[in-house]
Amino acid sequence: MAGKIKLPHKCPKCGVIAKTEPELEKIFGYRTLNGGVSNQSQCKKCR
Ligand SMILES: [Zn+2]
Repeated sequence: MAGKIKLPHKCPKCGVIAKTEPELEKIFGYRTLNGGVSNQSQCKKCR
């Protein structure tokens, strides 16, 4: 994939941490686009 997500990723607001990509998808939710991914900086709760 062209897009890179740094792991672990921490929510700057509440501090929840995703250590793996499944966790990232579950906690933050990220979009898979053509040829790449983009993550959300804040978790689902904080948005
Ligand atoms: Zn959060």
